[in-house]
Amino acid sequence: MPSAIVIGGGLAGLASASALGQSGFQVDLFEARGFLGGRATSYPVPGDNSEVGVNSEVIDNCQHVLLRCCVNLMNFYGRLGVADRIQFHKRFYFIEPGGRTSILEAGALPAPLHFTGSFWKLPFLGLSDKIGIARALGAIRREHGRVHLSGGRRDLDRISMLDWLREKRQTERAIARFWNQVLVSAINEDLDRMAASHGFQVFWLGFLARANAYEMGIPAVPLGDLYNPEVLRRIGNVRLRLRAAVDQVIAEDGAIRGVLAGGERHTADYYISTVPFERVPALLPQLELNLDGFEHSPITGIHLWLDRSLTQLPHATLLDRTIQWMFNKSGGRYLQLVVSASRSLVEMPRAEVIALAMRELAEFFPRAKDAKIEKAHVVKEIRATFSARAGLEQSRPVSATKFPNFFLAGDWTRSGWPPIMEGAVRSGYLAAEAVSRAAGQEQKFLLPDIA
Ligand SMILES: Cc1cc2nc3c(=O)[nH]c(=O)nc-3n(C[C@H](O)[C@H](O)[C@H](O)COP(=O)(O)OP(=O)(O)OC[C@H]3O[C@@H](n4cnc5c(N)ncnc54)[C@H](O)[C@@H]3O)c2cc1C
Repeated sequence: MPSAIVIGGGLAGLASASALGQSGFQVDLFEARGFLGGRATSYPVPGDNSEVGVNSEVIDNCQHVLLRCCVNLMNFYGRLGVADRIQFHKRFYFIEPGGRTSILEAGALPAPLHFTGSFWKLPFLGLSDKIGIARALGAIRREHGRVHLSGGRRDLDRISMLDWLREKRQTERAIARFWNQVLVSAINEDLDRMAASHGFQVFWLGFLARANAYEMGIPAVPLGDLYNPEVLRRIGNVRLRLRAAVDQVIAEDGAIRGVLAGGERHTADYYISTVPFERVPALLPQLELNLDGFEHSPITGIHLWLDRSLTQLPHATLLDRTIQWMFNKSGGRYLQLVVSASRSLVEMPRAEVIALAMRELAEFFPRAKDAKIEKAHVVKEIRATFSARAGLEQSRPVSATKFPNFFLAGDWTRSGWPPIMEGAVRSGYLAAEAVSRAAGQEQKFLLPDIA
């Protein structure tokens, strides 16, 4: 039986390990931490007695959501037997300061006309904003590479989404309240930095291609519960080695001959690294990876436990303020707030972040004015994702490397997707396919996009 070592137990590592394990490979997965999931995970926070223990609560490092068009991620959850733990929501709530709430949802018409009814009624946009947005959505359909395979527009990786929106003469309000609101959270980058190709993909696959593709999936359990080690062991020949950081990948005579972990050498026929980009050079300097142009974009998650319920909405996007999303984790009293591309909060002290969040919440939910905070937790993920900026796509490496038995995966590699969970799983499947090819047992794991 051919063997593989997978380095990293985030989504890319778990996806490649499960795919290979289920198709006849003996897999050893090395994860530095004591738990799985990498950047999409959960952990206990202290309870009343300020210590992690019986009163502690398990929270996600940050709310993670997906859209129905994330077919490889759902396929991966299916492998783990947890696809039914993802609850899909058909309504998007947009709230303006002052509390007026608009709902975007699909109606009876087929794609791409499925939003027609609710879109034209959205009160937070004016008629000229909407006419401009409708025009731009039409342009996305025309200019998207996959619609016109030969004639698709070729500069979308090189220009920013904001450049493209300005070219399409979008109003300032449409940019701020519609494009910005959807895309900054989806891509974790500001419009003036993000490559237009990523913005296109979100709208093409998520909003235009199929009538249900926009539905938002939210895990009904803590993220960490999705990657049960027992399930992984059962689904294939995957041996999990937790708290087992790989310190070095050993290259000799043009191939990889082993990894060093905890002072011991471990060997396999094939190796996949799924660690974040900034970790690779230290593991294997001989790879001479060119990471010029790679930088991080932060995300801040603010968890608030309040003495009263602020809202019955399951989630909402909050317009015109710093906080972009609210997720109702429990009865309107435990709220998880998310700020993507949160550079403005990185240096801000924790207490100020919480005060800002409460001030802003009071503008959307009047009951917040008198609410008392019972507990608060701020998670600033400075290295949340790579910055999916214009001009970077060609620098994202593919799975194959100059070493014939060493492959790369991770949301930063060239998965065809931005740095999100679907991209991580796709990269894991692509690396597993490359391993199967190298072993002479070619297999397909990657599912094609919905359009
Ligand atoms: C705050 C936040 C919010 C996000 N929100 C969303 C969202 O709503 N939707 C979405 O789709 N995506 C979201 N993302 C992005 C998503 O989490 C990532 O794209 C995805 O989890 C990356 O997976 P990965 O396997 O590529 O990398 P990682 O998750 O980083 O996995 C790498 C693993 O390698 C391990 N490792 C590192 N070095 C070593 C070593 N030397 N030896 C062994 N193991 C090692 C790490 O511990 C880690 O477990 C969010 C990310 C963050 C941080």
